[in-house]
Amino acid sequence: MDCPERMLYLGKVRTASDLESLLDQSLEDIRQELYVDAIVSGIQGEHIIMSREDRRILDIIREGERVREMDGTTWAEAYGARSASLDHGMYVPNGDKIILRKDRWCRKTMIHEALHSVSIFSYAPHLEEGLRIKVFVEALTEFLTGLILYRKYPDCYEGWRLDKFEDWCGMGTKTRGVKIFCAFSNFVSVQRLIDLYFWQEGITWSQAWASFIEACPNFTDIYEEGLRTNLLIRFKYECEEKLGKRFRRKAKGLDYSTILI
Ligand SMILES: [Zn+2]
Repeated sequence: MDCPERMLYLGKVRTASDLESLLDQSLEDIRQELYVDAIVSGIQGEHIIMSREDRRILDIIREGERVREMDGTTWAEAYGARSASLDHGMYVPNGDKIILRKDRWCRKTMIHEALHSVSIFSYAPHLEEGLRIKVFVEALTEFLTGLILYRKYPDCYEGWRLDKFEDWCGMGTKTRGVKIFCAFSNFVSVQRLIDLYFWQEGITWSQAWASFIEACPNFTDIYEEGLRTNLLIRFKYECEEKLGKRFRRKAKGLDYSTILI
């Protein structure tokens, strides 16, 4: 089954500047629905796309161009066949570019990638750290994507939550993590996760993390342990231990209507 919203959304894309407008729309959604001061944290500039086999230049995205569609063949040459069949988009902090897999993306993808572009994890001093906790970052990005869909695009939210349409409309492998953050937000205001996620002038990652843990009831700081194992899973254990049975029950389902604002 195809999504009725998709035609309306993608029907607007004819030229490169139409893509740029859709990105602006997503950034506007982020500012309206989540964080009014969201600003791009990546380094703006040129980005060269090379073949992973022989480092041949496949394409150059110039400074000023922020978003680009890429066909499956080029995608496979640049990022591998596995990525070409699984991924729908990516954000490149170095150059501040969003690359979308042609014919395999929709509004959800654009919002997800736009969120990466304004997160603290794409801010140059924390790039390495963001990669070390990639699973945690991806799940949190997808959870916040869901929050924007829930608040502004209810049809997309339902399609995403229930996995009703094509795979690029759903949350795929990130489902488990999204459920953890959604259940957690029934106990601690979602604002704490928002404050953790967005890049803010003068706030380092360790400061942001410390204030986050402080706001969680009786939580132990599990960061170092999470780095050695898996931060997302370690965070889940901490939630189960400190928030108890009700958390476990909540984490089985996925319902944005009961989260604390
Ligand atoms: Zn992502």
